[in-house]
Amino acid sequence: MPGIWIYSEDSAVARQLLTAGQELKQTMQQPLNVITLYADDAPSFVQAGADKVCVLKGNNPWPESYAAAITALLQAEQASVLLVGATMRGKDLAAKVAAGLKTGLVTDALSVQFANDIIETTRLMYGGLAVRTEAVALPALVTIPPRTFAEAPASAGQGEVVTVEVANDDARITISNVCPIVRQGADISTASRVVCVGRGLAKQEDMSMVEQLAAAAGAEIGCTRGISEDYHWLPNDRYIGISGQKVKPELYIGLGISGQVQHVVGIRDSKVIVAIDTNEKAPIFEAADYGIVGDMYEVVPLLTAALQKK
Ligand SMILES: Cc1cc2nc3c(=O)[nH]c(=O)nc-3n(C[C@H](O)[C@H](O)[C@H](O)COP(=O)(O)OP(=O)(O)OC[C@H]3O[C@@H](n4cnc5c(N)ncnc54)[C@H](O)[C@@H]3O)c2cc1C
Repeated sequence: MPGIWIYSEDSAVARQLLTAGQELKQTMQQPLNVITLYADDAPSFVQAGADKVCVLKGNNPWPESYAAAITALLQAEQASVLLVGATMRGKDLAAKVAAGLKTGLVTDALSVQFANDIIETTRLMYGGLAVRTEAVALPALVTIPPRTFAEAPASAGQGEVVTVEVANDDARITISNVCPIVRQGADISTASRVVCVGRGLAKQEDMSMVEQLAAAAGAEIGCTRGISEDYHWLPNDRYIGISGQKVKPELYIGLGISGQVQHVVGIRDSKVIVAIDTNEKAPIFEAADYGIVGDMYEVVPLLTAALQKK
Protein backbone atom coordinates (compact mmCIF):
# COMPACT_ATOMS: atom_id res chain seq x y z
CA MET A 1 0.00 0.00 0.00
CA PRO A 2 1.41 3.48 -0.82
CA GLY A 3 2.83 5.16 2.25
CA ILE A 4 5.21 7.71 3.68
CA TRP A 5 8.37 6.10 5.04
CA ILE A 6 11.03 7.35 7.45
CA TYR A 7 14.55 6.03 7.92
CA SER A 8 17.52 7.10 9.98
CA GLU A 9 20.21 5.04 11.65
CA ASP A 10 19.94 7.67 14.43
CA SER A 11 16.66 7.07 16.27
CA ALA A 12 16.41 10.65 17.61
CA VAL A 13 16.65 11.92 14.02
CA ALA A 14 14.00 9.40 12.93
CA ARG A 15 11.63 10.84 15.57
CA GLN A 16 12.35 14.33 14.17
CA LEU A 17 11.51 13.09 10.67
CA LEU A 18 8.21 11.77 12.01
CA THR A 19 7.22 15.41 12.58
CA ALA A 20 7.78 16.14 8.88
CA GLY A 21 6.09 12.84 8.00
CA GLN A 22 2.98 13.72 9.98
CA GLU A 23 2.56 16.93 7.95
CA LEU A 24 2.77 14.86 4.75
CA LYS A 25 0.33 12.32 6.15
CA GLN A 26 -2.26 15.09 6.60
CA THR A 27 -2.11 16.08 2.93
CA MET A 28 -1.35 12.70 1.32
CA GLN A 29 -3.76 10.66 3.43
CA GLN A 30 -1.31 7.76 3.47
CA PRO A 31 0.07 5.75 6.39
CA LEU A 32 3.29 6.87 8.05
CA ASN A 33 5.85 4.10 8.53
CA VAL A 34 9.34 3.81 9.99
CA ILE A 35 12.22 1.55 8.99
CA THR A 36 14.66 0.93 11.82
CA LEU A 37 17.50 -1.42 12.65
CA TYR A 38 16.85 -1.16 16.40
CA ALA A 39 13.99 -3.21 17.87
CA ASP A 40 14.39 -1.46 21.25
CA ASP A 41 13.51 1.92 19.71
CA ALA A 42 10.44 0.68 17.79
CA PRO A 43 7.93 1.55 20.60
CA SER A 44 9.17 5.17 20.64
CA PHE A 45 8.34 5.48 16.92
CA VAL A 46 4.84 4.12 17.51
CA GLN A 47 4.41 6.65 20.33
CA ALA A 48 5.66 9.38 17.99
CA GLY A 49 2.92 8.59 15.47
CA ALA A 50 4.16 5.74 13.25
CA ASP A 51 1.40 3.51 11.88
CA LYS A 52 3.90 0.71 11.25
CA VAL A 53 7.51 0.12 12.26
CA CYS A 54 9.58 -2.36 10.24
CA VAL A 55 12.57 -3.62 12.22
CA LEU A 56 15.12 -4.89 9.70
CA LYS A 57 17.23 -7.80 10.92
CA GLY A 58 20.23 -8.82 8.86
CA ASN A 59 23.51 -10.55 9.56
CA ASN A 60 25.69 -7.50 8.80
CA PRO A 61 25.39 -4.80 11.52
CA TRP A 62 26.51 -1.81 9.40
CA PRO A 63 23.65 0.55 8.54
CA GLU A 64 24.97 1.21 5.02
CA SER A 65 24.69 -2.49 4.21
CA TYR A 66 20.88 -2.23 4.42
CA ALA A 67 20.43 -0.13 1.25
CA ALA A 68 19.40 -3.05 -0.96
CA ALA A 69 17.03 -4.42 1.69
CA ILE A 70 15.40 -1.00 2.16
CA THR A 71 15.07 -0.60 -1.63
CA ALA A 72 13.34 -3.99 -1.88
CA LEU A 73 11.02 -3.19 1.03
CA LEU A 74 10.01 0.18 -0.46
CA GLN A 75 9.39 -1.43 -3.86
CA ALA A 76 7.24 -4.17 -2.33
CA GLU A 77 5.28 -1.62 -0.28
CA GLN A 78 4.91 0.81 -3.23
CA ALA A 79 6.26 3.64 -1.08
CA SER A 80 5.39 7.19 -2.13
CA VAL A 81 8.04 9.00 -0.11
CA LEU A 82 11.14 8.10 1.90
CA LEU A 83 12.50 10.74 4.29
CA VAL A 84 16.07 9.99 5.37
CA GLY A 85 18.10 11.75 8.09
CA ALA A 86 20.92 13.63 6.33
CA THR A 87 23.72 12.19 8.44
CA MET A 88 26.86 10.98 6.65
CA ARG A 89 25.52 7.44 6.69
CA GLY A 90 21.99 8.53 5.81
CA LYS A 91 23.18 10.41 2.71
CA ASP A 92 25.22 7.40 1.61
CA LEU A 93 22.25 5.10 2.00
CA ALA A 94 19.74 7.50 0.40
CA ALA A 95 21.84 7.76 -2.77
CA LYS A 96 21.98 3.97 -3.07
CA VAL A 97 18.25 3.57 -2.47
CA ALA A 98 17.43 6.32 -5.02
CA ALA A 99 19.60 4.56 -7.60
CA GLY A 100 17.94 1.23 -6.75
CA LEU A 101 14.46 2.72 -7.18
CA LYS A 102 15.58 4.74 -10.24
CA THR A 103 14.02 7.82 -8.75
CA GLY A 104 14.95 11.39 -7.80
CA LEU A 105 16.73 12.35 -4.59
CA VAL A 106 16.56 15.80 -3.01
CA THR A 107 19.21 16.45 -0.37
CA ASP A 108 19.33 18.68 2.73
CA ALA A 109 15.69 19.77 2.52
CA LEU A 110 14.49 22.26 5.12
CA SER A 111 10.81 21.83 4.28
CA VAL A 112 8.83 19.16 2.48
CA GLN A 113 5.26 19.42 1.23
CA PHE A 114 2.89 17.50 -1.02
CA ALA A 115 0.81 19.31 -3.63
CA ASN A 116 -0.49 18.46 -7.12
CA ASP A 117 0.90 14.91 -6.95
CA ILE A 118 4.48 16.04 -6.40
CA ILE A 119 6.74 16.55 -3.41
CA GLU A 120 8.00 20.10 -3.09
CA THR A 121 11.08 20.86 -1.00
CA THR A 122 13.17 23.89 -0.11
CA ARG A 123 16.86 24.09 0.69
CA LEU A 124 19.51 26.77 1.06
CA MET A 125 21.78 27.67 -1.85
CA TYR A 126 24.98 29.72 -2.18
CA GLY A 127 25.92 29.36 1.47
CA GLY A 128 22.48 30.47 2.62
CA LEU A 129 22.05 33.50 0.34
CA ALA A 130 19.13 31.96 -1.55
CA VAL A 131 16.38 29.42 -0.99
CA ARG A 132 15.83 26.89 -3.76
CA THR A 133 12.46 25.21 -4.27
CA GLU A 134 12.50 21.81 -5.98
CA ALA A 135 9.76 19.49 -7.16
CA VAL A 136 10.21 15.74 -7.30
CA ALA A 137 7.80 13.15 -8.66
CA LEU A 138 6.73 10.13 -6.63
CA PRO A 139 8.28 7.95 -5.39
CA ALA A 140 10.40 10.72 -3.87
CA LEU A 141 13.49 10.44 -1.71
CA VAL A 142 14.38 13.39 0.47
CA THR A 143 17.19 13.79 3.00
CA ILE A 144 16.59 16.19 5.90
CA PRO A 145 19.39 17.47 8.18
CA PRO A 146 19.25 16.53 11.87
CA ARG A 147 17.37 19.03 14.09
CA THR A 148 15.52 20.62 11.16
CA PHE A 149 12.33 19.45 12.89
CA ALA A 150 11.64 18.93 16.59
CA GLU A 151 11.02 15.35 17.70
CA ALA A 152 7.39 14.32 17.35
CA PRO A 153 5.81 14.32 20.84
CA ALA A 154 5.08 10.95 22.43
CA SER A 155 1.49 9.80 22.84
CA ALA A 156 -0.30 6.48 23.18
CA GLY A 157 0.29 5.20 19.64
CA GLN A 158 -1.67 2.45 17.89
CA GLY A 159 0.91 1.37 15.32
CA GLU A 160 2.20 -2.16 14.75
CA VAL A 161 5.80 -3.38 14.92
CA VAL A 162 6.95 -6.04 12.46
CA THR A 163 10.34 -7.70 12.13
CA VAL A 164 11.66 -8.25 8.62
CA GLU A 165 14.53 -10.71 8.14
CA VAL A 166 16.81 -9.54 5.32
CA ALA A 167 19.99 -10.73 3.62
CA ASN A 168 22.39 -7.79 3.77
CA ASP A 169 25.80 -9.35 3.31
CA ASP A 170 27.49 -7.75 0.32
CA ALA A 171 30.58 -9.84 -0.40
CA ARG A 172 32.12 -6.93 -2.33
CA ILE A 173 32.53 -4.87 0.85
CA THR A 174 34.38 -5.95 3.96
CA ILE A 175 35.13 -3.74 6.97
CA SER A 176 38.84 -4.06 7.61
CA ASN A 177 39.18 -1.59 10.49
CA VAL A 178 37.05 0.77 12.59
CA CYS A 179 38.54 3.95 14.08
CA PRO A 180 36.05 5.89 16.20
CA ILE A 181 36.40 9.69 16.14
CA VAL A 182 37.57 10.82 19.57
CA ARG A 183 35.76 14.04 20.47
CA GLN A 184 37.37 16.57 22.77
CA GLY A 185 34.59 17.93 24.98
CA ALA A 186 30.90 18.03 24.23
CA ASP A 187 29.17 18.04 20.85
CA ILE A 188 28.67 21.76 20.04
CA SER A 189 25.91 20.98 17.54
CA THR A 190 23.60 20.18 20.47
CA ALA A 191 24.95 22.78 22.97
CA SER A 192 22.40 25.19 24.43
CA ARG A 193 25.00 27.98 24.72
CA VAL A 194 28.00 28.61 22.48
CA VAL A 195 30.86 31.08 22.82
CA CYS A 196 32.42 31.27 19.37
CA VAL A 197 35.81 32.78 18.68
CA GLY A 198 37.15 34.15 15.42
CA ARG A 199 40.33 35.57 14.02
CA GLY A 200 39.95 38.67 16.18
CA LEU A 201 41.78 36.54 18.76
CA ALA A 202 45.40 37.63 18.44
CA LYS A 203 47.19 34.57 19.80
CA GLN A 204 46.51 31.06 21.08
CA GLU A 205 47.44 31.90 24.68
CA ASP A 206 44.48 34.30 24.74
CA MET A 207 42.15 31.31 24.43
CA SER A 208 42.11 31.21 28.26
CA MET A 209 40.09 34.47 28.17
CA VAL A 210 37.54 32.75 25.92
CA GLU A 211 37.49 29.66 28.17
CA GLN A 212 36.74 31.83 31.20
CA LEU A 213 33.81 33.49 29.46
CA ALA A 214 32.50 30.11 28.31
CA ALA A 215 32.78 28.71 31.85
CA ALA A 216 30.96 31.73 33.31
CA ALA A 217 28.21 31.47 30.68
CA GLY A 218 27.93 27.66 30.92
CA ALA A 219 28.74 27.47 27.22
CA GLU A 220 30.68 25.24 24.84
CA ILE A 221 33.43 26.82 22.73
CA GLY A 222 33.14 26.99 18.95
CA CYS A 223 35.16 28.89 16.35
CA THR A 224 35.38 30.02 12.76
CA ARG A 225 37.13 27.84 10.21
CA GLY A 226 40.45 29.66 10.27
CA ILE A 227 40.86 29.13 14.02
CA SER A 228 40.76 25.35 13.62
CA GLU A 229 41.80 24.58 10.04
CA ASP A 230 44.50 27.25 9.60
CA TYR A 231 45.74 27.99 13.13
CA HIS A 232 44.92 24.59 14.72
CA TRP A 233 44.00 26.33 17.97
CA LEU A 234 40.83 24.22 18.31
CA PRO A 235 39.87 20.82 16.86
CA ASN A 236 38.09 20.72 13.49
CA ASP A 237 34.83 19.50 15.07
CA ARG A 238 34.60 22.92 16.78
CA TYR A 239 34.28 25.12 13.72
CA ILE A 240 30.86 26.32 12.74
CA GLY A 241 29.50 27.08 9.30
CA ILE A 242 28.58 25.71 5.93
CA SER A 243 31.42 23.22 5.86
CA GLY A 244 31.52 22.70 9.64
CA GLN A 245 28.99 22.25 12.43
CA LYS A 246 25.49 23.75 12.41
CA VAL A 247 24.46 25.00 15.84
CA LYS A 248 21.05 25.86 17.26
CA PRO A 249 21.75 27.18 20.77
CA GLU A 250 19.60 29.39 22.97
CA LEU A 251 22.56 31.80 23.11
CA TYR A 252 25.49 32.33 20.73
CA ILE A 253 28.21 34.86 21.63
CA GLY A 254 30.58 35.65 18.76
CA LEU A 255 33.98 37.19 19.57
CA GLY A 256 36.05 38.84 16.83
CA ILE A 257 34.08 37.24 14.00
CA SER A 258 33.41 39.23 10.83
CA GLY A 259 30.27 37.23 9.98
CA GLN A 260 30.94 35.94 6.47
CA VAL A 261 28.01 34.03 5.03
CA GLN A 262 29.87 30.70 5.23
CA HIS A 263 29.96 31.09 9.02
CA VAL A 264 26.56 32.73 9.53
CA VAL A 265 24.73 29.89 7.77
CA GLY A 266 25.82 27.65 10.66
CA ILE A 267 24.49 29.96 13.40
CA ARG A 268 21.33 31.41 11.85
CA ASP A 269 19.03 29.11 13.86
CA SER A 270 20.45 30.35 17.19
CA LYS A 271 17.76 31.91 19.36
CA VAL A 272 19.83 34.91 20.51
CA ILE A 273 23.00 36.06 18.73
CA VAL A 274 25.40 38.42 20.51
CA ALA A 275 28.37 39.78 18.55
CA ILE A 276 31.46 41.62 19.79
CA ASP A 277 33.66 43.12 17.08
CA THR A 278 35.79 46.22 16.66
CA ASN A 279 34.48 46.86 13.14
CA GLU A 280 31.04 48.45 13.30
CA LYS A 281 30.50 47.53 9.63
CA ALA A 282 31.22 43.81 10.19
CA PRO A 283 28.38 41.75 8.62
CA ILE A 284 27.99 39.78 11.86
CA PHE A 285 26.02 42.75 13.24
CA GLU A 286 23.34 42.18 10.58
CA ALA A 287 22.79 38.67 11.93
CA ALA A 288 23.07 39.70 15.60
CA ASP A 289 20.25 40.43 18.06
CA TYR A 290 22.70 42.32 20.30
CA GLY A 291 25.94 43.88 19.09
CA ILE A 292 28.84 45.41 20.99
CA VAL A 293 31.26 47.44 18.88
CA GLY A 294 34.43 47.11 20.88
CA ASP A 295 37.70 45.34 21.55
CA MET A 296 37.07 41.81 22.79
CA TYR A 297 40.14 42.13 25.02
CA GLU A 298 38.28 44.85 26.93
CA VAL A 299 34.70 43.59 26.66
CA VAL A 300 35.18 39.86 27.37
CA PRO A 301 36.79 40.24 30.84
CA LEU A 302 34.00 42.67 31.84
CA LEU A 303 31.32 40.28 30.57
CA THR A 304 32.96 37.32 32.34
CA ALA A 305 33.17 39.23 35.63
CA ALA A 306 29.52 40.29 35.35
CA LEU A 307 28.40 36.70 34.68
CA GLN A 308 30.52 35.36 37.55
CA LYS A 309 28.67 37.71 39.94
CA LYS A 310 25.31 36.15 38.99
C1 LIG B 1 34.02 27.19 0.42
C2 LIG B 1 34.23 27.89 1.73
C3 LIG B 1 33.68 27.33 2.86
C4 LIG B 1 33.87 27.97 4.09
N1 LIG B 1 33.30 27.42 5.19
C5 LIG B 1 33.41 28.06 6.37
C6 LIG B 1 32.78 27.56 7.54
O1 LIG B 1 32.12 26.52 7.52
N2 LIG B 1 32.94 28.25 8.69
C7 LIG B 1 33.64 29.42 8.77
O2 LIG B 1 33.73 30.00 9.87
N3 LIG B 1 34.26 29.91 7.68
C8 LIG B 1 34.17 29.26 6.49
N4 LIG B 1 34.78 29.77 5.41
C9 LIG B 1 35.65 30.96 5.59
C10 LIG B 1 34.83 32.25 5.62
O3 LIG B 1 34.64 32.71 4.30
C11 LIG B 1 35.55 33.36 6.40
O4 LIG B 1 36.83 33.55 5.86
C12 LIG B 1 35.68 33.06 7.89
O5 LIG B 1 34.43 32.71 8.44
C13 LIG B 1 36.20 34.31 8.59
O6 LIG B 1 36.52 33.99 9.91
P1 LIG B 1 36.65 35.13 11.00
O7 LIG B 1 35.37 35.89 11.07
O8 LIG B 1 37.16 34.46 12.22
O9 LIG B 1 37.85 36.03 10.45
P2 LIG B 1 37.85 37.45 9.77
O10 LIG B 1 36.94 37.51 8.61
O11 LIG B 1 39.28 37.77 9.55
O12 LIG B 1 37.26 38.41 10.89
C14 LIG B 1 37.92 38.74 12.07
C15 LIG B 1 37.09 39.79 12.78
O13 LIG B 1 37.69 40.09 14.03
C16 LIG B 1 37.53 41.47 14.27
N5 LIG B 1 38.53 41.83 15.28
C17 LIG B 1 39.87 41.95 15.15
N6 LIG B 1 40.44 42.23 16.33
C18 LIG B 1 39.43 42.30 17.23
C19 LIG B 1 39.37 42.55 18.63
N7 LIG B 1 40.48 42.78 19.36
N8 LIG B 1 38.17 42.55 19.24
C20 LIG B 1 37.02 42.32 18.53
N9 LIG B 1 37.02 42.09 17.21
C21 LIG B 1 38.22 42.06 16.57
C22 LIG B 1 37.70 42.12 12.92
O14 LIG B 1 37.08 43.40 12.90
C23 LIG B 1 36.98 41.12 12.02
O15 LIG B 1 35.60 41.46 11.86
C24 LIG B 1 34.62 29.17 4.18
C25 LIG B 1 35.16 29.71 3.01
C26 LIG B 1 34.97 29.09 1.81
C27 LIG B 1 35.56 29.70 0.58
